[in-house]
Amino acid sequence: VILVEDLAKLWRLQELELEAARWRRELEQEDQSDGIRQKAEIVLQFEERLRELDNRLASQRKSLKKWEQQLKEKNAQAMELQQQLYGGTVNNPKELESLQQKHIDLMREIAGAEDDYLDVVESLDEAEASKKELEQDVNELRTTQKELSSQFAAWREEIETRLALLEHECRQEEQDIDLELLTTYRKLASQKAGIGVARLNNQTCGACHMEVPLFMAKEVIRGKRLVFCESCGRILYGG
Ligand SMILES: [Zn+2]
Repeated sequence: VILVEDLAKLWRLQELELEAARWRRELEQEDQSDGIRQKAEIVLQFEERLRELDNRLASQRKSLKKWEQQLKEKNAQAMELQQQLYGGTVNNPKELESLQQKHIDLMREIAGAEDDYLDVVESLDEAEASKKELEQDVNELRTTQKELSSQFAAWREEIETRLALLEHECRQEEQDIDLELLTTYRKLASQKAGIGVARLNNQTCGACHMEVPLFMAKEVIRGKRLVFCESCGRILYGG
């Protein structure tokens, strides 16, 4: 009778230990933290791209300022020419004609430069807009990454807590089991993937699924002495 009870406790202990082992394996799996690392890497890459874009835009804005300055100077020159032309100080027709030509050329030059200038302003505005989009993407990524890593940390903590509880339960369960039986179980479990005791299911061993002779099966059910599976060597439990 005592053996039957001990085997039931042993079975319960094994279930707890197998569950603890499952959680421990789960914790050891680095897949999730790898995923989080990859996301952090992507965030860094995006930030780097953003910095490059920022630098490029800043230098383009700078050259745009120079361009603006040149346009102003050319417009001032044109004004000057106009004043000369209509100020009544030039009487020589040849000189007048050359001034007129100069003025026409300058105005044409200014018109072309202004068109180019406006094109560049427009493309810069577009670049600024896509920069803003990129910034948004980076922010979203950063948030997701942070959420993931805090979720992962919470998950780890939860499992570690469960594991600590399970281990505590195991220690408690162990205390009530006959020491000799426990030692035999431990030895078998360490050799057989953590499974030292197998349940008997309709005359077959629950671990290796081999048939157990009827007289042995009966002995297992009776529970007066320890019976081992003839194929896998595990303790058989009839509960
Ligand atoms: Zn077996």
